[in-house]
Amino acid sequence: MFSSPGVWREFFETYYRDEINKLAGKKLSGVRGSIYVDVTRDLLIFREGKLAEELFENPEVVISHAEQGLASAENIYDVSLEGCKVRFVNLPASRRILIRDLRAEHISKFVSIEGIVRKVTEVRPRIVKALFICTNCGKELLVDQEENVIKPPSECRACHSKGRFLLIPEKSVSVDSQRVKIQEYPENLRGGEQPQIIDVLLEEDIAGEVNPGDRVIINGIVKAVPRGSGKKLVHMDLQIYGNSVEVLQQEYEEFEITEEDKKKILELSEDPNIYDKIVRSIAPSIYGYEDIKLAIALQLFGGVPKRLPDGTEIRGDIHILLVGDPGVAKSQLLRYVHRIAPRSVYTTGKGTTTAGLTATAVRDEVDGRWTLEAGALVLADKGIALVDEIDKMRNEDRSALHEAMEQQTISVAKAGINATLKARCALLGAANPKYGRFDKYTPIAEQIDLSPTLLSRFDLIFVMTDDPDEERDAALAKHILETHELGEKLAKFKNVVASGLSKEALEVESEKVKPLIEPELLRKYIAYAKRTVFPVLTEEAKQKIIEFYLSMRGRIKENSPVPITARQLEALIRLAEASARIRLSDKITAEDVERVIRITKRSLEQIAIDPETGEIDIDYAFSGTSKSQRDRILTIKKIVEDLEKEFEKGVPEKEILEEAEKRGIDKAKARELLYKMRERGELYCPRPDHYRVVHSY
Ligand code: ADP
Ligand code: MG
Repeated sequence: MFSSPGVWREFFETYYRDEINKLAGKKLSGVRGSIYVDVTRDLLIFREGKLAEELFENPEVVISHAEQGLASAENIYDVSLEGCKVRFVNLPASRRILIRDLRAEHISKFVSIEGIVRKVTEVRPRIVKALFICTNCGKELLVDQEENVIKPPSECRACHSKGRFLLIPEKSVSVDSQRVKIQEYPENLRGGEQPQIIDVLLEEDIAGEVNPGDRVIINGIVKAVPRGSGKKLVHMDLQIYGNSVEVLQQEYEEFEITEEDKKKILELSEDPNIYDKIVRSIAPSIYGYEDIKLAIALQLFGGVPKRLPDGTEIRGDIHILLVGDPGVAKSQLLRYVHRIAPRSVYTTGKGTTTAGLTATAVRDEVDGRWTLEAGALVLADKGIALVDEIDKMRNEDRSALHEAMEQQTISVAKAGINATLKARCALLGAANPKYGRFDKYTPIAEQIDLSPTLLSRFDLIFVMTDDPDEERDAALAKHILETHELGEKLAKFKNVVASGLSKEALEVESEKVKPLIEPELLRKYIAYAKRTVFPVLTEEAKQKIIEFYLSMRGRIKENSPVPITARQLEALIRLAEASARIRLSDKITAEDVERVIRITKRSLEQIAIDPETGEIDIDYAFSGTSKSQRDRILTIKKIVEDLEKEFEKGVPEKEILEEAEKRGIDKAKARELLYKMRERGELYCPRPDHYRVVHSY
């Protein structure tokens, strides 16, 4: 073997003089630090890379040589660097192994894996040298510990007794220790694949450095550990003993955009039809829904997150909710977005893991330690979370979602774990109506199982209904038949070159449902835009937004409904930013604003038109009570209150209805409201068909 403490000492003294002196300074003040060796930059070129080669193949021995070499390295303080750690970072791509490709051949080798932190345990001491006292002669014995279970000495060195030994934890040597689980990137999984996970042990100064949701590179030694608690099994699990952790900072670092890609992206961005092209590249096999597809395109590019001078943070992420009848391709759309988003997590409201949508503290199955586990929104940090059947989510998730959607963080405070995780993601949710089908004449808040406050956090809500419409039905049927026929032919063509199926003819047909921009290029386009483009409002754009806002608010004469609120105004700005980003433009123009006003109005028309007045009323959409209805409820309450003086044992229904009619509320409507108010506990019946007002004191 070429490696020896002497060679390492030479390596450090040649390449890491400054670092050694810093480390020595720390050591003087009582801190045992680590030195970080850049493998690709330095170790690979030292002595033709021989040390690097041996490190990869024989890490245990070589790292021990390196630490001995470091311990004796010369430094300006003339202190021994004994006990300092050598950590290796920036390994060459050839050492990068996918989690799913780890095999027996990697055991005891030095590798580099990349993924997202899924779970972290608390940092707790682990005994590495246990001190025992022989109960026979009283001799103290120090025993190295490498396994999960404490190993006593086999016999006493002094009296050779094989009897009882007493562990003295306070005199044993412990290090900080933590286990984390690293999962493959969720966006690299294709339809239904289970993510592969690996356990990593992090000790001493690298324990407690990562959080669930972080994207990291872990460099370390692959170990085989017995599976389960029975220690004699031949089946083993793989684990990595971490030597170093590199937390990836930059957005979409894992995306490599070549000069050639860049050329294509810039060319596309100048195409006057770029919006249409992108819309037609989102789920081309799904017919129609151009508005929704444009909204999704805007969501993929996203607005600009802002931090104001007073510390306030404003999200740039755009949240969209699709509500609609079963079978209108909601799930299909979500799955397609999962394929083109540069970073995304697909899940259902019920969730597939213990952490569900958000995050939670759970007991670790191995050692009972508390563990913080990331859910879908944390794993989707800086990307997009696709949540199907969001109306079915668990109650814990409902409350956490408020915080996640607005502050973009998730706080966990449970069992001594107190953490705030980042969840800077856009949310695309799909929900089914409670009663099977969507009813145009009932406010959306009453039809889906989401609270008004949650609903109001979505920038755009779209209703997808399956109303029979001859023209659309015919076109849809034709589209679906054509897609299926094409799929059949493609399947057939794979096996036989059947007569009548020329390759050219098939290609012509395929064009119809082929995305105009290949998913691979679109992903890069989005990543490039999010990384480099930060558009700013122009004067005319600002003017346009203000005009729209005022024109909607301006409808408030004395008593008319509240059409849009400041929340929708913020949504407009975010959407306009995204619109400029699609062109890779750093200026938000009047056209951008017009485009997003069109789409905002489309959304509001679907959810916020009070069917009685025909006007847009945000309260109608989110609280389920329109201004006109609220007025009538107040009127009825007043009537009951007034009549109570005459009818002490409750006001007869008949009297109320007659009085209501005099004030312009027809009897059927008044009866409906009476029942509703009783249900909500605003009125009560001391006896059948007699009403009194419930007073809250
Ligand atoms: P949902 O989640 O809304 O209940 P799905 O996404 O499961 O509906 O869609 C049901 C099926 O109907 C899918 O196979 C989908 O492709 C098809 N489908 C529905 N609407 C369309 C459409 N507009 N274009 C193409 N296919 C459609
Ligand atoms: Mg579905």
